[in-house]
Amino acid sequence: MTAHRFPLADTHIHLEQYTDEQISQMLAEFQEGNGAFVVAVSMNLESSKRTEKLAKQYPDLIHPAYGFHPEQPLPSIKEENALFEWMQQQAQAGQMTAVGEVGLPYYSRLEAIERGDRLDEDGYLRLLERFIVFAAKHDLPIILHAVYEDAPIACELLERHGIRRAHFHWFKGDEHTVNRMITNGYMISFTPDLAYENEIQELALRYPASLVMSETDGPWQFEHAFANRMTHPSMTADVCREWASLRGVSEDEARRQLFENAERFYGR
Ligand SMILES: [Zn+2]
Repeated sequence: MTAHRFPLADTHIHLEQYTDEQISQMLAEFQEGNGAFVVAVSMNLESSKRTEKLAKQYPDLIHPAYGFHPEQPLPSIKEENALFEWMQQQAQAGQMTAVGEVGLPYYSRLEAIERGDRLDEDGYLRLLERFIVFAAKHDLPIILHAVYEDAPIACELLERHGIRRAHFHWFKGDEHTVNRMITNGYMISFTPDLAYENEIQELALRYPASLVMSETDGPWQFEHAFANRMTHPSMTADVCREWASLRGVSEDEARRQLFENAERFYGR
């Protein structure tokens, strides 16, 4: 692996979904390639507890985020309250980097429509607002899964609660919303699909250099050059390389810029 002057950050990975063996090997390899940190997001309370355990094991490398992923059935009120109580303890102990992954169920809604079903839209909105209020109260960054027509709805809620530190991971959406997010100073991040998705490449050309970061959303798998490969935080090096070539800057400059952004947003 080539040593680079500038470090890497994977600002969105579901680390707890890998096995312990995969994690220890992956993180060692990531560090060898000058990987500095990963932001490990969670799906629900159980997943948050596993993320917490990993963050204790690798305190310098893992920045933990806790929340409830929107692309799954809503939790019961009891489950929801248990998650918030637990998160409150983490936040008060200063052991929580961000709220995430939270947002709105774009893909589940499409699936529901296809089966002639409806989702409890109000339920998802109410839960997202509760996470936003929590982030505001504890002054934590928030990691959003809110794409296409869900993005302006998330923007509306963030604005209502005066949130400045929002990260729309793997973002896709319309031009008007992109401009609104830029005005608000919201961050976005690119996955390895920056290498082959036109829609994402266009976004990378528009979105200000000071507001973009690299991520993998691992273990989600990618296509083309990444097909049949386990998604690895070191693939953020490929993201930086693609961003560099799109923006006409050196790979070093891309790594410096994307890392500086991640460090500013998530560093502690
Ligand atoms: Zn994710």
